[in-house]
Amino acid sequence: MKIPLPCKDYVFPDGSAEIRDWVLYIHKPKAVKDVMYKITYMIYGNDECYYCHRKLKEHIEPNETDKYFSKMTIDHLYSQEFGGLTIPQNMRPCCERCNLRKGNLFEDEFEEKKRLPTGSDEESRLIRANFDMKIKKIQENRRMGLSLGIPEEWLTPAKSIKRVHCSLWLFEGFGAEYRKQKNMQQKNKYIARTIMLSSNFYVLDGFYTIMLTKMDRRFEDYKISVLDNVVYDGDELM
Ligand SMILES: [Zn+2]
Repeated sequence: MKIPLPCKDYVFPDGSAEIRDWVLYIHKPKAVKDVMYKITYMIYGNDECYYCHRKLKEHIEPNETDKYFSKMTIDHLYSQEFGGLTIPQNMRPCCERCNLRKGNLFEDEFEEKKRLPTGSDEESRLIRANFDMKIKKIQENRRMGLSLGIPEEWLTPAKSIKRVHCSLWLFEGFGAEYRKQKNMQQKNKYIARTIMLSSNFYVLDGFYTIMLTKMDRRFEDYKISVLDNVVYDGDELM
């Protein structure tokens, strides 16, 4: 899979990456997330919310504070929790209010939620409760790997990849994200996260997922996405 790029050539001012002839070269592994965010803003702009279409900082209604509308955030269309990748085609700039309201819903689910009746009458409450129950079931299936959380065409067959490159800093613990994924794995016997690799098979995201999945030798659980127009060419890893 290729990620969309904003232009043919571009050098990131902090020296973390560069785009050369429609290929993204990442020089520093810890910069992956920032680079993807920057590219997303370059493609989709940084002043209009993707969901409510307001120009941030300008379209604030008299009964609102500017707290949620003046802050630009990035939303993952397919939530990371269910395998959504930190790549431009899965991210959109939006206001903080829409981001919080959407949470880990997918785009169509969020649109449905916005159309729900807001009244406090019995019927409206029942419709909202039914919606919540339906979503709960759908998300449960995604967490257990019973349904794929992201488009299948984003994935690369795991069997076609023999080895990946990454390095491990011996003296640093794994931290909160590792514990979170470990808990998820113990609860669901599955990790829905996607492992993201550069075209030269360096791990750009999903190191913990590899660790946990390998320990349990559940190779069939691997969800891998190779970014064909991204090359990692830095020195130190992870
Ligand atoms: Zn919004």
